[in-house]
Amino acid sequence: MSRFLCKRYENLEKYVPGEQPKDRKYIKLNANETSMKPSPKVLEVLKSERMERLGFYADPDAKELRLAVAEKYQVKMEEVFVGNGSDEVLGMIFLAFFDETAKIAYPDITYGFYEGFAKSFAIDGKAIPLKEDFTVDVDAFIESGRHIILANPNAPTGYVLPISEIERMAASDPDRLVLIDEAYVDYGNETCIPLIHKYKNLIVVHTMSKSKNLAGAHIGYCVADKSLIDDLNGIKFSFNPFNMSDISLAIGTAAVKDSAYYEKCAKEIIANREFLSEELRKLGFQVLESHTNFIFVTNPSMYAKEYNQKLREHGILARYYDAPRIDNFLRITIGTREEMEAVVEATREILQKLAA
Ligand SMILES: *Cc1c(COP(=O)(O)O)cnc(C)c1O
Repeated sequence: MSRFLCKRYENLEKYVPGEQPKDRKYIKLNANETSMKPSPKVLEVLKSERMERLGFYADPDAKELRLAVAEKYQVKMEEVFVGNGSDEVLGMIFLAFFDETAKIAYPDITYGFYEGFAKSFAIDGKAIPLKEDFTVDVDAFIESGRHIILANPNAPTGYVLPISEIERMAASDPDRLVLIDEAYVDYGNETCIPLIHKYKNLIVVHTMSKSKNLAGAHIGYCVADKSLIDDLNGIKFSFNPFNMSDISLAIGTAAVKDSAYYEKCAKEIIANREFLSEELRKLGFQVLESHTNFIFVTNPSMYAKEYNQKLREHGILARYYDAPRIDNFLRITIGTREEMEAVVEATREILQKLAA
């Protein structure tokens, strides 16, 4: 830290993303990305004439992308805010609505960015423990009297709360913001976006990094009551009006419009998820029932940390968390059938060697 860094940043908490090593070719199953291609429509846009006009600034109102999202979810453009990945959208939400007087709550086991952001910006954040079975303790959240931030489905557990539980939280207090991060909603779940018309305190965040096969483009958005979206745009226009490039706006729009392609991808991921879960269970693993594009697994005869290391030696990267309660679990992203077969094969070999 230099002596010039502002005092208010002295506790910056840097999020540690899944690593991207280049020392050899890995099957990368550690960051819930995918080797599946973006929609052909997205690739077409990248080769289109529009890309020859990058000498001009993009539309700061991001109208076409916001309209496409609005159409898909039957809301208004004024109810949609877009950014560079849901991380930026979450960041703007924190900047706009949570200051040093705010109290927020998130689960003890969830996406690390929520706590990281709270710490970085000295917001009073409380981690509310998941229940023994790793489900969200909705009553504890309601009773906390705090703003609520939940990933639904949750990561890295893969469990999902029914919409009625989201509604119960939003209805519990109109003065509490309820922020639902639906990064994994497209893997067989129902979105709570329609509830934004009933609950003016609900914000639903989506990303194109997972189910739109576009982590490398980093596009995200949120949907909420117009008054909240106006506030977010206020923040954005005060420090980076052109936050999204014209490339992102163009391909994000193409992706949102090609639902058919992405529904097919999600179906494939779900089928591969069931395949891998089934195969690992046969090999003695406990696999939590996932509603996402990853599984969270543990094995009574092998430490998760060791399993992770051994997979790595087989050229497969997964995500291990050296954290309380989950330090004997491994998160494995669901990829193509071939990639899943490689995981099964490697796991078989690892277990055989262990037994020998
Ligand atoms: C991956 C993930 C994100 C990050 O999404 P980006 O759009 O890539 O920033 C946000 N929330 C959760 C729960 C995630 O798993």
